[in-house]
Amino acid sequence: MSVINKKCECGKNSIYYKSYEGRAYCKRCLARQIEMNVKKTLRKDGLIKKGDKIAVAVSGGKDSCFLLYIINKIFRNVKGIDFFALCIDEGIKGYRKKSLDAAKKLCKMLDVKYYVVKFDDAFNYTIDKIMKRISDEKSRQKICTYCGVFKRYLINKEARKLNATKVAVGHNLDDEAESVLMNILRGDFNRFLRLGASPILIEDKKFVQRIKPIRNVSSDEIILYNKINKIPFYYQRCPYSYDNVRRDVKNIIDKLEKKYPGTKYQIVRFYDKLKPILLKRVKPNGKMKYCKICKEPTSRDICEACELLEKLKN
Ligand code: SF4
Ligand SMILES: [Zn+2]
Ligand SMILES: [Zn+2]
Repeated sequence: MSVINKKCECGKNSIYYKSYEGRAYCKRCLARQIEMNVKKTLRKDGLIKKGDKIAVAVSGGKDSCFLLYIINKIFRNVKGIDFFALCIDEGIKGYRKKSLDAAKKLCKMLDVKYYVVKFDDAFNYTIDKIMKRISDEKSRQKICTYCGVFKRYLINKEARKLNATKVAVGHNLDDEAESVLMNILRGDFNRFLRLGASPILIEDKKFVQRIKPIRNVSSDEIILYNKINKIPFYYQRCPYSYDNVRRDVKNIIDKLEKKYPGTKYQIVRFYDKLKPILLKRVKPNGKMKYCKICKEPTSRDICEACELLEKLKN
């Protein structure tokens, strides 16, 4: 992101310059361009259709607050499409309450229904409790694995209970580019195939399809859009966000983007071109099963959440 003296095409002063487009934007034109970007993703990938009830996963951070705001803006007055916010409280003292307060503030501002589901109620564990239970530093650094697995599990289960047909998540362009590179670095072909606007999971009535309406909007643009529209959000980082592969990949991509503007966009475009070609030749692994312990859908005998819960007992 860089601000230059160039005027926007409409003649107004610019606040943002997209170097790879060679175009400067004023506040109004930028907001409009971002909204068009999201609409294009929704349309091109057919993400939301009449009859859908969308559970918007909202944490209170900049991306999910932007996602809820824009879904509300696009679908508020569209008949036959319903949505609500689904917030997960992982139990992280000094952090999650503040971010959920921002999420609730936004829901009230937009008059959107919201539901808060707690790890503690669902699993009898909070992330704080798990951190205390894990003694060695190496495992403590994997706290995001526990958090991510439990969160995905709970979002799917609760969204289903609330009759949602889809779950919208706040993955932005930066996240998507990072995921593409991360899966290449890890050699995780199966996960690589599951990226995209509407990731392929095992099709099953107990799985609620995940969609990523903001995957073509960059993190910088989201920050500006939130500012322009005075969208409340919580900006602090989780105290448990350790250095990990994603952080390293993010730093590399950010550096490349600075030197070669448009890198993030090109990585995602390249993936989008490659995926249909790959899917013609290979099918992602995994058959639908139900967890022997909790009966939730999984590709294994015991789902990842139950496996981690068992680990915590030892
Ligand atoms: S940084 Fe890790 S522990 Fe913190 S909310 Fe995110 S996934 Fe959970
Ligand atoms: Zn303009
Ligand atoms: Zn299970």
